[in-house]
Amino acid sequence: MRFDLITIFPEFFAGPLEHGILRRAREAGLVEVHVRNLREFTKDRHRSVDDRPFGGGEGMILKPEPLFEAVETLLEHSLGDAEQPASTDPKTAILLMSAAGNLFNQQAARRYAELERIVLICGRYEGVDERVADHLATEEISVGDYVLSGGELPAMLIIDAVTRLIPGALGNEASSQNESFSLNPEVPEVVSPVGTRHAASVQTDIELPGPAAKYDCRFTNHLLLDFPHYTRPADFRGWKVPDVLIGGNHAEVANWRRAAALEKTQRNRPDLLLR
Ligand code: SAH
Repeated sequence: MRFDLITIFPEFFAGPLEHGILRRAREAGLVEVHVRNLREFTKDRHRSVDDRPFGGGEGMILKPEPLFEAVETLLEHSLGDAEQPASTDPKTAILLMSAAGNLFNQQAARRYAELERIVLICGRYEGVDERVADHLATEEISVGDYVLSGGELPAMLIIDAVTRLIPGALGNEASSQNESFSLNPEVPEVVSPVGTRHAASVQTDIELPGPAAKYDCRFTNHLLLDFPHYTRPADFRGWKVPDVLIGGNHAEVANWRRAAALEKTQRNRPDLLLR
């Protein structure tokens, strides 16, 4: 997988690429990350990348020419014009970072992990000339419902989420199959709280870290958050690890984890259960 970042702040990426999984994945040759300074692709004396908005208003807008130049240089082919637009390789995504884009999520990360190349365009100032979203980027992507000052952090976030899904990037392969926002095919049954309309057959009393509740087991396809994890000490300042995790009964541990994942999803992200 090759990532290309287009930014006016190339130094921004020095730190985040140098740690943990990303560093190891780069060293192992699983991913390559190339950072390009947008100013390299300007042709005027002042190397200007931005200009005032048509129609008036606040702030400056990143101009289309240097961004098209940058991507065309990286892809080594022209993207054409309004008369004759050129298509791009389906194994390459050109992502424009934008608060007004489609929301990035784990499903998108999995889709990107199948590609060969991802070009990430980092906006700044008031944003980017709309022709970049319409005719250069293959997708306009937001990392959440808030406005940041630049696309560098969003781009880094996408690189991180995608890299850890590339086979071999995580030390323990299982860890990306059984985590938040994943369906674990081995344990299809999860639980729903008693009292919901669908409350069905099997009831279990499970000691949960949150408010005590009874849970019914049934089958569902919802994406859940990860279950709570604990490590030593078993008693920290009087806050104890649930007994079931210490008992060593694997079936009970698995049951507890499913119930706890559901309880936590209900508490922190009830929207996931309504999808
Ligand atoms: N005027 C724009 C915000 C511009 S912020 C608006 O209201 O939508 C400057 C740049 O930061 C954007 O061009 C984009 O590249 C980046 N950015 C800000 N928030 C973002 C988010 N939630 N997701 C992805 N990129 C974001």
